[in-house]
Amino acid sequence: MRIIKISGIIKESVVDGPGFRLVIFTQGCPRHCRGCHNPDLIPAGGGREMTAGEVLQLIKQNISPLTGGITFSGGDPLMQADALLEILRLVREEYPQYSIWVYTGYTFEEVKTWPVLQYIDVLVDGPYEEDQRDISLAFRGSLNQRLIDVPASLTGEIRCLTLP
Ligand code: SF4
Repeated sequence: MRIIKISGIIKESVVDGPGFRLVIFTQGCPRHCRGCHNPDLIPAGGGREMTAGEVLQLIKQNISPLTGGITFSGGDPLMQADALLEILRLVREEYPQYSIWVYTGYTFEEVKTWPVLQYIDVLVDGPYEEDQRDISLAFRGSLNQRLIDVPASLTGEIRCLTLP
């Protein structure tokens, strides 16, 4: 059983993917991007240690009738990829109707062979680049970040969602 460090949860976010989404924030990211909008989540020492089962319970307690999907952000959830895989497997079994989005500082090319990718619908990839900041972008902060359609991209060329 693997432990993951969680820093918080938001019940109904509208900025971390389409619709009202339940967002789990993981703790820890070594990148220290200039302008990071979650600097409190960078230190690996913070947050709360939880098992995959405990995270599933946390999700169950916060699901609402409005929930349209589940997003993992941080920090960088893929820094704890093995533990995240256990969580996403449970989430898929319990809530197959919800799309799973994951934000990461890795690029898709760097992680496309990782087992955890099989459970992710959309990967918002790449670190935040302050000199490419664009507040008109949907669900991401800088132009270099992509909304990768993971199932489609794992079977062929990289496919991105077409949002403004
Ligand atoms: S990858 Fe994301 S969480 Fe990590 S430092 Fe950069 S902006 Fe912050």
